[in-house]
Order: sequence, then structure tokens, then C-alpha cells
Amino acid sequence: MHEASLITSLLKIAHRVKIQNELDTISKVTIVVGDMHQVISDVMQNCFDLLKDDFQGFDNAQLIIKHTPLKIRCKECQKIITLNQTDFHCPHCHSTSTEIVSGQELFIETLEAE
Ligand SMILES: [Zn+2]
Repeated sequence: MHEASLITSLLKIAHRVKIQNELDTISKVTIVVGDMHQVISDVMQNCFDLLKDDFQGFDNAQLIIKHTPLKIRCKECQKIITLNQTDFHCPHCHSTSTEIVSGQELFIETLEAE
């Protein structure tokens, strides 16, 4: 499952940060996920609840998910377009010469410890 592997890698990073900062118990993990990743929040939450027990100190941790919209810039007409799906052509001039400007994010924004 896509979400499970994302959560596993995020938990590994969070766990490393926890150790580096000598934190005991994590209460909240806030992540930023771009819509490019097409994750389902409920599935992310379920995976987090299942997988967090494998990481010491995360038993009571809460997951907060922040989504960033998928946006592209058209290299022909320079318009910035917010996409609802991964269809990377410009709706204005129909160019396929576009670049992603937002929506690829996948990182931990903050860790809160008790
Ligand atoms: Zn265009």
C-alpha cells in the first residue's frame, strides 16, 4: 500500500529526529503532503495508528496532515494552474510544456513532544 510505505518512511525520519533531540514521548506529528502523491487522509491516519507502535515513544502520537495543492506553470503562456488530477497539460493554451510548482511536498513540518 502506497500510504503505508510513506508513513513508514516518515516515522523513521521522525524517530531519528526524536533520538537526535533526546525527546521521550511524541504527542503530535504534523506532515505536509502534496496532492501529487494522491494519498487518502483516512488511509494515512489508519496506517499511522497501526505503524506507530513499531516506533518507541510514538504510542500516543497524533498525526496532522496538511495538504498542498498540485499546481503547474505553463511554459508557453506562463499561467499557473491548480490541478485536480494528474493531467499535466495547460487548459488555456493546451501546451504540454509545463512544470510542477507545488504539490510534490512530502515532509515532516513539526514534531511535538510531551
Ligand atoms: Zn498555457
